[in-house]
Amino acid sequence: MATNIRIIYYSTATRNTSLTELKDILVTARDNNAKEEICGMLCYDNQYFLQALEGDREVVSELFLDIADDPRHTDVVIVSCEPIEDCLFEDWKMGYASSTEAFLSLLAEMSQTEFEPGEMTAEQMFSLLVHMSKHQNKVD
Ligand code: FAD
Repeated sequence: MATNIRIIYYSTATRNTSLTELKDILVTARDNNAKEEICGMLCYDNQYFLQALEGDREVVSELFLDIADDPRHTDVVIVSCEPIEDCLFEDWKMGYASSTEAFLSLLAEMSQTEFEPGEMTAEQMFSLLVHMSKHQNKVD
């Protein structure tokens, strides 16, 4: 029986990622994820990535290991990995949000002055990803 999982991790960009580099990541991600039936959400700010990946556990595990090896980021920290009944991000092959007003005001509500995932609880990171999936930046 196929089991779906959700992995959430955060990482540090190896250098300040430009919009063009983010577009590159998103184009590849959306293309591959559509083929592999993976969905998720990526946030980027203050040189940190926060990402949720959802889909078949073997496929997501393989992709996560590839992503973790990507030289564009480092210090990858797994926040959670759990079996799921329903995909929360299923409308997005890879949603994306960055430092918009909605993003910064949500951080402020969480008493965070800037985006620093290491200072946030797992619940806060999950909530940020879910909330931001509804307030995405358009990157085409
Ligand atoms: P290739 O594109 O041939 O990559 C070969 C190797 O080069 C890989 O190790 C790759 O990581 C690295 N690489 C590719 N482009 C660059 C570059 N511009 N600079 C430096 N190294 C590079 N991919 C997905 O499919 N789905 C995702 O959801 C996803 N999310 C990502 C989130 C983050 C934060 C990052 C940094 C990357 C993400 N990627 C994602 C990209 C992923 O890491 C791989 O680049 C992608 O899966 C293609 O890898 P490949 O080995 O098939 O092919």
